[in-house]
Amino acid sequence: MYSKDPELGKKIHQLLLDKKVESPAFFNQLTENSLNDIKDKFHDLLQSIGLDLNDASIANTPKRAAKFFVNELFYGLDYNNFPKMTANPNDYKYTSPLFSQSIAFNSTCEHHLVAISGNAYLAYIPKDKIIGLSKLNRIVDFFAKRPQVQERVTRQIFFALQEILGTEDIAIGITAKHSCIAIRGVRDDSTKNITVEFGGRFNTDTQLKQTIYDMLLKSN
Ligand SMILES: [Zn+2]
Repeated sequence: MYSKDPELGKKIHQLLLDKKVESPAFFNQLTENSLNDIKDKFHDLLQSIGLDLNDASIANTPKRAAKFFVNELFYGLDYNNFPKMTANPNDYKYTSPLFSQSIAFNSTCEHHLVAISGNAYLAYIPKDKIIGLSKLNRIVDFFAKRPQVQERVTRQIFFALQEILGTEDIAIGITAKHSCIAIRGVRDDSTKNITVEFGGRFNTDTQLKQTIYDMLLKSN
């Protein structure tokens, strides 16, 4: 497991509400205490589609699925799980752009409850604070682990990073494949969707902005 910071989580939740980009969810609902309730509902759901819950292979599926929901797939619905973002003073005065490429993530489409899999590309220009680089991966993962739409998760990560890093100079791009496009409806498994958000100098400096687009469009 990783270090968590529920207080920071509360602050980020309020920020996203203020920015009107918070997910439509009640964030105090999904806890370890929900396990039994979710297990019972999975049991009923599987029964409704005709599975034999007495079969040895399936008997524990409701319990396994409930644990998966709470602890893995949707742990980002509980701000008590917000990752700790230890920041250090930028003593070495690194003030050039920093790029973090190909942060792989898995999320869930809130319209169809199937996978969204992709990569996030982040960039920031440090001011007074530097954070451990793996924290960027952690924050992407936290917001991915809830039912999502790609446009919203892009903006959630963007605003959270502006707050945590204390700078407007943030850029984010996300490339993702959606299983709801690949395995249902139009059934196109080659489509990749790209979303971006630029702040501060990444928005005003066209060359810097182009660098991000180049990175995204050349990615696989
Ligand atoms: Zn979908």
